Amino acid sequence: MRKILVVGAGQSGLQLALGLQANGYEVTLMSNRTADEIRSGRVMSTQCMFHTALQHERDLQLNFWESQAPDIEGLGVSVAGPESQRVIDWVGSLDGYAQSVDQRLKMAGWMETFAQRGGQLVIHGAAVSDLDYFSRAYDLVLVSAGKGELVSMFGRDASRSPFSEPQRALAVAYVHGLGPRPEHPEFDAVRCNLVPGVGELFVMPTLTLSGRADILFWEGVPGGPLDVFNGVKDPGEHLSLTLELMERFTPWEYARATKVELTDANGTLSGRYAPTVRNPVGRLPGGGLVLGVADVVVANDPVTGQGANSAAKCAAAYLASILEHGDKEFDEVWMRQTFDRYWDTARHVTKWTNAMLGVPPEHVLNLIGAAGALQPVADRFANGFNNPADFEDYFYEPEKAEAYLASVSGA
Ligand SMILES: Cc1cc2nc3c(=O)[nH]c(=O)nc-3n(C[C@H](O)[C@H](O)[C@H](O)COP(=O)(O)OP(=O)(O)OC[C@H]3O[C@@H](n4cnc5c(N)ncnc54)[C@H](O)[C@@H]3O)c2cc1C
Repeated sequence: MRKILVVGAGQSGLQLALGLQANGYEVTLMSNRTADEIRSGRVMSTQCMFHTALQHERDLQLNFWESQAPDIEGLGVSVAGPESQRVIDWVGSLDGYAQSVDQRLKMAGWMETFAQRGGQLVIHGAAVSDLDYFSRAYDLVLVSAGKGELVSMFGRDASRSPFSEPQRALAVAYVHGLGPRPEHPEFDAVRCNLVPGVGELFVMPTLTLSGRADILFWEGVPGGPLDVFNGVKDPGEHLSLTLELMERFTPWEYARATKVELTDANGTLSGRYAPTVRNPVGRLPGGGLVLGVADVVVANDPVTGQGANSAAKCAAAYLASILEHGDKEFDEVWMRQTFDRYWDTARHVTKWTNAMLGVPPEHVLNLIGAAGALQPVADRFANGFNNPADFEDYFYEPEKAEAYLASVSGA
């Protein structure tokens, strides 16, 4: 039986470990935290996942929370004007619903399932020296440790990483008591509120430890008025700041947030990181090779809510490559081909996400504006969150955007 070590129990590592286990591989999963520590720890993400990524979980019968999590049927965009009024406000319809399940709930539950099914779970924060040893004991070592210190084994790919600094300061608060959007009280949506030059506020429903909740997520341009969460340790203070900024920049979202309270004392998160693509193969001091997975090798800014989606897609692609490879050696050529298969999807995510971090060019403003009057444009933009490759056909180049708008408006 082939022996595989998976280091890091997040979206990609657990999905891969459970998928390999179901296919008869002998899998060891190494996590720096126990399931209880994850469950009782700090929130990690907003983790909104769209149809294709959710389907990968369904394919492995890992959609344990699907019936409890709110169905997110739309994705809306609002743009703030100079007086904090809304100059654009529309909602597109998703072809398949999205869902967000608090990673504390999901990762703890998946980890317990892995152990119950006979998987070997090792609670240990792996260091490079450990991996040196393990690379000799296993047929394959997969490093799915997110943006932690192990990324230092994988060199930065400068040609695919245009930024060397964080592009947004992140601040998340999980709350109970948010009112529905008055424009569509009958269905849930991710609401993207763009404040030009300042940042973005994302509001979305989730399933957390205490049931249905909503997430208020500010992404602030570094050094700007939203970049004020550094050093804020008190969760109550974090929520007050979040609400003050909503009242100032997005009063229409604040109007439904006046009665909110935090879901729990660990329901806030702040931080920042530079979006980075890395060389997928890590070479250990003793000569062994390890393959990087998901955020380890492609970490995009969460402004487009893609990281967990990409982690699910990466895990699905790697699982297929491992199964297809049978008993052959997992050598460097195979590792690079396996990453390239994932990069074929991930490159679209990286291109689109990096574009959304910049100042939007005029043709993009036209598209976003036109979506208010042309429902097919709103729907197409919303469904791009499920399949970012679609942006290639109408989003980046002014000529393609104009041709698309002309075709939709019948001009
Ligand atoms: C504020 C914020 C909002 C986000 N919102 C969204 C969203 O709405 N939609 C979306 O798709 N994505 C979102 N993301 C991104 C998404 O959460 C991540 O991209 C995704 O979780 C990455 O999965 P992963 O498996 O690569 O790593 P992770 O989920 O980070 O898992 C890595 C695991 O490895 C463990 N680990 C680290 N080092 C070691 C070690 N040395 N030894 C053992 N274990 C180790 C960690 O504790 C962790 O459990 C968001 C991210 C942030 C920060």
